[in-house]
Formats: sequence, C-alpha cells, structure tokens
Amino acid sequence: LRDQAEARKSQPALTKDGTRIAVMVNVAGLADVAALPPEACDGIGLTRTEFLVEQSLRDETAQFGAYAGLLRWAAGRPVTIRTLDAGGDKPIAGYTLAGEANPFLGLRGIRLSLRHPEIFRVQLRALARAAAIGPLKIMLPMVTTAHELEQTRALLDAVLVDLAAEGMPHAMPALGIMVEVPAAAMAVARFDAAFYSIGSNDLTQYATAAARDGLEVASYADVLHPGVLAMIAHVARHGAKTGREVSLCGDAGGEPRAIAALLRAGIRTVSVSPGLLALAKDAIRGVDLSAPDEAA
Ligand code: PEP
Ligand code: MG
Repeated sequence: LRDQAEARKSQPALTKDGTRIAVMVNVAGLADVAALPPEACDGIGLTRTEFLVEQSLRDETAQFGAYAGLLRWAAGRPVTIRTLDAGGDKPIAGYTLAGEANPFLGLRGIRLSLRHPEIFRVQLRALARAAAIGPLKIMLPMVTTAHELEQTRALLDAVLVDLAAEGMPHAMPALGIMVEVPAAAMAVARFDAAFYSIGSNDLTQYATAAARDGLEVASYADVLHPGVLAMIAHVARHGAKTGREVSLCGDAGGEPRAIAALLRAGIRTVSVSPGLLALAKDAIRGVDLSAPDEAA
C-alpha cells in the first residue's frame, strides 16, 4: 500500500468530491528534501530554523545561504521560513533561558526573539535578502498578542530601509503568524497577518492542558477534541472570510485518522513531514466533503 501511495505522491491531492488540497512540506533544512522532487509538493509550509541556524545566530551570510538553498530547491514554489522558535522543547544553549519551571509556558518563540532584537535583526535581514530569490514567507512562532506582530513588522520595515540604503538586493516577504496559542486562535481577527498557519502540536497541548511530550497524558493531547477542532474551524472561517491563507503545519496534518476532521473544519492547506507526504495525500483522496459527516 505504501508503494502505491509513493507512486501517487507527485499527483495533486484532490478529495473525492474534487476539492484541491494543497500539501506542503515541513523541513529543518535542505537535507530533509534532498530526495524529494519539488513537483511532489506545493512548497515548504514550515522551515524550523532552530537547528538550521543554531550555530549562526549572528551570522547573516550563513543564514542567507541556508534560506537561499531552500528557495532554489523549491523552484518558484512558496517557502515559509519560521523565525526562531527556541525555548519550550527546543532549547538553544546560551540563548534560551535556563531553569524555567514551565518552559512550554515561558520565554519561547517570538517572545524570545523580541527580547533579543540584535539576534532577531540578523535573521530578518537574511530573510529579506533571500526573498529576492523567490517567494519567501516569514512566519512568526508562538504569537500571543497583535502587538508582537506589529513590533516585528516595524523591525522588518527598518531592516528593509537599511538594506535599500546599503544597495543590498532584497524583497519584502509576506509576514504571517503561527496560530498555536489558544487565546490567539480565538482572537485571530485581531491579527493583521498575511497568512495564518495552525501549529496543531502546540495548540492541542495548550488547549487540552496536556504536554505534547508527556507520555502519561498522550491520550488527552488529541487534536480531534471538539474544543481544539472548534478553534481550528474558527481560524479557517476567518481565513475564508478575509481571503487569507490558513494552513495547518502540525503533525496532525499527516495523520490519516485526523485528515477528514481537519478538512471538515475548513482546512485546505496542510504542511507535513516529507516522509508522510504520500500517506497524507492518499488520506485526502479518501475524504468526501460532500457526504454527511459520520463522525459528527
Ligand atoms: C506546532 O506547534 O504544531 C508546530 C508545527 O510547531 P513545532 O512542532 O515546531 O512547535
Ligand atoms: Mg509549535
């Protein structure tokens, strides 16, 4: 079965009723897609930069090279690059805070980037420069307040002014947010982002009060909990109403048992790990959105 799914991997994913679902991939670097022809996906929906730039937090040239490599691989398809989501389950020695009692509820993601503007600026400059090569989208992790998005926009604007003054090739990337904090999901209309990507791993853990890495509570951290699905549907409705893309880049997007519920909640774009691309597309092909919802 897996082999047949592999063979169909390069075909677009259409549900039984003919709804086209965009399927992108999650990467931590170019090595993750070395064996994948870019035609097999609709671009990169999430680049986790925590490992990619761990050794080059202050090295703009190295970061630019890493982002440029992804854009060249994607050959014109969108490449979504997430700014550092350090902290929580992704510590970076010397950058993240040590000794937090609750790292998942602590200084992580955009909170940490905004505390270190000198490091954040390096990443934003490298991203704006790479945007000259292809359609690069910047995605902010763990956004909780609209102010965080606006602060980042101001930093990005300043970076663009500097690059222009230096005569350095650059372009304005689309600026979007991850929706993975329940309060942000419920208040999504307050966030003037170019796109939204639901981080179902964190959204589920925060909404169900069950740690994503907690074996004893794994059954609670269920993306199919009606409360989690209601938040996902709320975000998808906002996207449909405003014409802004809503994708889902958590692991649930590649879980065949979750696909139908996510599509019924209004998700039309998922981003999955490259190893799950074939299975995710096949799961999508098994969904009939015109049929009554048996689960409901
Ligand atoms: C998520 O939270 O669902 C997500 C995609 O981001 P990460 O797993 O890197 O926290
Ligand atoms: Mg997350």
